[in-house]
Amino acid sequence: MRVILLVMSHDHPVVRHTIFQNSLMTALLDGIYDGEMTIGELLGKGNFGLGTFDALDGEMVIIDGVCYQLKHDGTARPAELEQRTPYAVATNFVPRIVREAPSHISRADLSSFIDSMTPSENYMYALRIRGKFTEVRTRTVVRQERPYRPMHQVTEDDAAQVFNDVSGVIAGFRTPIYEKGISVPGCHVHFIDDDRTSGGHVLDFELEKGVIELCPGTDLELKLPLTQDFSRANLAPEDLDEKLHTTEVKD
Ligand SMILES: [Zn+2]
Repeated sequence: MRVILLVMSHDHPVVRHTIFQNSLMTALLDGIYDGEMTIGELLGKGNFGLGTFDALDGEMVIIDGVCYQLKHDGTARPAELEQRTPYAVATNFVPRIVREAPSHISRADLSSFIDSMTPSENYMYALRIRGKFTEVRTRTVVRQERPYRPMHQVTEDDAAQVFNDVSGVIAGFRTPIYEKGISVPGCHVHFIDDDRTSGGHVLDFELEKGVIELCPGTDLELKLPLTQDFSRANLAPEDLDEKLHTTEVKD
């Protein structure tokens, strides 16, 4: 009991902390690929996050207040503040729970390790993994043309990349299952290397050595688009579980 109390007092795990989200995952699934929020506005909501860009033009990751566009060929570049996003999640990252990762750990084993770090599965968590990876496997969406097809049909165009022996950051969110339909339930993470030149949506990885940091979120600030596309979207598909699996897990 004494050990547990010491750990808890060291971590200060759960205090009020807001996670911001632009639009809904279900809107993206329904083919709403153009947003009204600029990257400049989004950065006002947090220095950390992920998402995508208008026309599904690559994956987004925000690290240390800089927003990067991860293109379908695996390259990364800083995004322009005027670019827009149809879906993004952001927060001001505070590393409240920090652990060194067991060495040479797979994504699956690390997932259980992260579960053991969380004080409760009922909160949201921003998740940052910094270190050296033996391998990171990513896939990245490819820019779409109107008329847009629903997302489960476009992910077959995705470009896959494998990065070996690379230092970098995995950034994203661990979201409770009850947020299904709003966000991506479970872990949704993107990778960018330390040179900030390559990355993508993470499918799998092995972490050689690194540090895991969690920032618990208790409050959700949800911004719904005022666009006609959003107002007409079907946001409650019957096959939501299957669509989430096809588009986000992509196996
Ligand atoms: Zn993603």
